[in-house]
Amino acid sequence: MILDCYAVFGHPINHSKSPRIHQLFAEQTQQSLTYIAQDVPAESFDSAIDSFFKQGGKGINCTVPLKELAWQRADSLSKRAQFSKAVNTLALQDNGSLLGDNTDGLGLVADLTINHAIPLRNSRILILGAGGASRGIIEPLMEQSPSSIVIANRTVEKAITLSTEFSQLGEISGSGFDAIKNRQFDLILNATSASLTGELPPLADTLLAKNGCCYDLAYGNKPTPFVNWGKSHDAEKSLDGLGMLVEQAAEAFYIWRGVRPETSGVIKLLNSERE
Ligand code: NDP
Repeated sequence: MILDCYAVFGHPINHSKSPRIHQLFAEQTQQSLTYIAQDVPAESFDSAIDSFFKQGGKGINCTVPLKELAWQRADSLSKRAQFSKAVNTLALQDNGSLLGDNTDGLGLVADLTINHAIPLRNSRILILGAGGASRGIIEPLMEQSPSSIVIANRTVEKAITLSTEFSQLGEISGSGFDAIKNRQFDLILNATSASLTGELPPLADTLLAKNGCCYDLAYGNKPTPFVNWGKSHDAEKSLDGLGMLVEQAAEAFYIWRGVRPETSGVIKLLNSERE
């Protein structure tokens, strides 16, 4: 029997947990498939896609730095991918075309609200960073009716441009880090890639409101600098993005296989493996 084949493309990719997550989903739902991690730099993206699907591949997850290229490459886009201009899931359709979707935002919202019971309605949300991950999470966050979203970024113009793109959805603004130093937020999301190099964006000590929460989209085997910042600033909860990773993967699995895997056992297992 030839198994349906899926992959995650990215660069670098060697530490990806996606193959393990999808293997656990496949076992749990009794689906026969393979899922591999493939190192694909941006310049090889098109040829890698061509060869993967020519060999019978069924779907691809795309991570840094390929999400925008995947958005351009898709033949059709889900509504959420149209908005985000970034695609993390490509699915081969029956007519041979490629559907592009973005499951990152849904994964984040599921982890925040279902797994951690963090309320988003009427909350003041700060997003640090204005890259591909920020693009993917703004619309799903807005759907939860926060009172406001502020995007703060090192390159200020990127934050302003991004906030303008989403301004029809609700109260949203963009700025640099300095301009927000006297404000307070109920939820601070770190969507910069600073944690990947052990860095922390410049954050004022008074930024987090009483009972506020911190969430780093990045994750690692140890707490990230931002998770530690949240803990040392009395965050009610200070979490990393492992749960989001599993939740976005579950949604991708559902798009490909039509079966929604259960996520809590997988998150628990991956958490226990890094303790
Ligand atoms: P991008 O490269 O598109 O954007 C990076 C952002 O980080 C930019 O806004 C950049 O600012 C900012 N930045 C980088 N270094 C620093 C620094 N030292 N100080 C302050 N700001 C910095 O990356 P993505 O948006 O795709 O990814 C961001 C993070 O989200 C990554 O850690 C990634 O792993 C994580 N992620 C996690 C997911 C999950 O499932 N858990 C899913 C998707 C992403 P500037 O514009 O000024 O360069």
